[in-house]
Amino acid sequence: MKALVIGGGIIGAAVAWRLACERVAVAVLERGRLGQEASWAAGGLIAPQGEADRPGPFFDLCMKAKQAFDALVERLVRESGVDPEYDKYGVLYVAFNEEEREELKARARWQREANAVVEELDAREALRLVPSLSRAVLHALHMPTNRRLDNRKLTQAYVNAAVRAGAEFREGACVDALVTSGGRASGVRLRDGSVAEADLVIIAAGAWSGEIRGLEGDSIRFFPVRGQILCFDARPGILAPSLFSTRGILVPRRDGRLLAGSVFEDAGYNKSVTLGGIRHVAQAACELMPALSQVAFREAWAGLRPATDDLMPVIGPSPTVSNVLYASGHFRSGIMLSALTGEVIADLAMGRKPVVDLGPFLPERYRSPVPRQRFKITEV
Ligand SMILES: Cc1cc2nc3c(=O)[nH]c(=O)nc-3n(C[C@H](O)[C@H](O)[C@H](O)COP(=O)(O)OP(=O)(O)OC[C@H]3O[C@@H](n4cnc5c(N)ncnc54)[C@H](O)[C@@H]3O)c2cc1C
Repeated sequence: MKALVIGGGIIGAAVAWRLACERVAVAVLERGRLGQEASWAAGGLIAPQGEADRPGPFFDLCMKAKQAFDALVERLVRESGVDPEYDKYGVLYVAFNEEEREELKARARWQREANAVVEELDAREALRLVPSLSRAVLHALHMPTNRRLDNRKLTQAYVNAAVRAGAEFREGACVDALVTSGGRASGVRLRDGSVAEADLVIIAAGAWSGEIRGLEGDSIRFFPVRGQILCFDARPGILAPSLFSTRGILVPRRDGRLLAGSVFEDAGYNKSVTLGGIRHVAQAACELMPALSQVAFREAWAGLRPATDDLMPVIGPSPTVSNVLYASGHFRSGIMLSALTGEVIADLAMGRKPVVDLGPFLPERYRSPVPRQRFKITEV
């Protein structure tokens, strides 16, 4: 079988690795350079209990995605020669006022009912865990089994492992359209007019997945949601657990960098860093950890989360072109969902039943009108 993956971000690379492991002849077509879009811009949290806001299929998917990482990460390091720095320090989600405390208490309740590990801490206990935490914190949830990693290294790890397993990656290869006849794709047409043939096509083009012509009948609207990150030169070990509040996150890297995020903006395909974004992220970061105001600022960047109308990933077969699979729309959780997405796409390609129930994530849900989920746009 010959498979073409459109898009060389973390999802395309994870899919290529798993397909190559199945001895599928797989090529990834990336219009720019590998892993330089959302997958480069992310914070790197593998934090199902922070990302999902309610119980249900998406939370279950996130929990399974985290388990997929646990099961896979050593093999990936071995097969790629790249250590993605999968750290085991957990997440601390904090509340600064009564309303946030009530929200966290409710979160702890439904997460416990769903068998997730969560500990409720008062302010003193939270400070003991994170001495640099703000004295204004009232209450916190500790999620000790949530994780983080370096998403840029993880993308490289998938690429290396895929290449070693036989996958091919082509940079500067922009796909314009599917070449179809009789409801099947025989390949794709590139912007330079050339055609690449395939038995199977995987759409992993992130926020641009809707631009590939030939899938209009699937009626899926993909759109970008901008995020901005500030990076500080702190010192290794400055923070053990990653921090969450309703206004921001702080994620340390092993080399001492500290990432502060983020915002959710409707800015089209504009990847600028803005003063409003910087101000919002800086305020939220200093609210979490006041000493950060004295730490050297290093750089800032922005990236585009790939979203769809119900803010859930789109994974599975196209309803209109039978040999096309989607692996797109991972919104704010694509790093976390990458390992599981690769596994599921390989299952589908090989005709196996996927390890998760894909029902709520199948592309065919967009054949009837799907109510648009409003995400909270950050006021910057
Ligand atoms: C600021 C920020 C923070 C985030 N933090 C986290 C986090 O902590 N944890 C988490 O799990 N997720 C996080 N995310 C979300 C995560 O980054 C994304 O969900 C994930 O990177 C999506 O991966 P992707 O491969 O689908 O998309 P991308 O990385 O955007 O890759 C898509 C690729 O497709 C290529 N492409 C597009 N069109 C074509 C075409 N026509 N032909 C060929 N190639 C094409 C693009 O050039 C690009 O390289 C964050 C995102 C942002 C922006």
